[in-house]
Amino acid sequence: VSYAYREGHDVLHDVSLDLRPGERLAIVGPSGAGKSTLGRLMAGVDAPRTGRTTVGGVPLVDLALPTLRGEVALVTQEHHVFVGTLADNLRLPRPEANDAELWKALSAVDADGWAAALPDGLATAVGSGGHPLTEAQAQQLSLARLVLADPHTLVLDEATSLLDPRAARHLERSLAAVVAGRTVVAIAHRLHTAHDADRVCVMEEGRISELGTHDELLAADGSYAALWRTWHG
Ligand code: ATP
Repeated sequence: VSYAYREGHDVLHDVSLDLRPGERLAIVGPSGAGKSTLGRLMAGVDAPRTGRTTVGGVPLVDLALPTLRGEVALVTQEHHVFVGTLADNLRLPRPEANDAELWKALSAVDADGWAAALPDGLATAVGSGGHPLTEAQAQQLSLARLVLADPHTLVLDEATSLLDPRAARHLERSLAAVVAGRTVVAIAHRLHTAHDADRVCVMEEGRISELGTHDELLAADGSYAALWRTWHG
């Protein structure tokens, strides 16, 4: 694929990548290399300028939104609490979900405690003008929505770095519960994410420059090895 935000200025150039079902792939590289852009294409948020992004042979852009949401989701630091009840917010991806399923999704991300303590539980009005939720609670709400949508693939664009460390650790646990059993693309701004991944994809100036396991890339002694040495002295 290639991609341009402005005509004539491609920020991705002939990028080719196959995800393996169940793998955890970390994308690393300098700021502006195109990591987040590639993540948006892989999640079907944006369509490539040339080339195709497909799932099961079908272009993501051809999928209706409810179908796409059941295939792949992008998880970012942006999360929205919509005006409505907590239940309305949770049911966005699955309008037919019953209350028991909503509680199960909340429990999966460790949010059932605070949700049960809300004045009207699932019927509590949230969003602008409603019962205020903390940043971490709003993020957990997004994660519970993901559990309900149940996509096989997640693209994570550093979901927790804006939070204070305690809230972040709590969220990491919630995220770990959501990630389990899915194919994960982690856009890594911290290298330990890469070390723990099955494969590492290095992006530089809109191209994939290296792709392999952590050990393979260290042995290859290229950009990733240099990056790793910088971090580990
Ligand atoms: P970072 O690690 O800083 O998030 P990144 O590797 O994710 O960087 P991208 O955010 O994908 O890189 O950006 C790739 C290129 O596209 C950069 O040159 C960036 O300035 C440009 N870019 C990103 N978003 C937009 C946008 N909305 N409009 C125009 N240009 C953009």
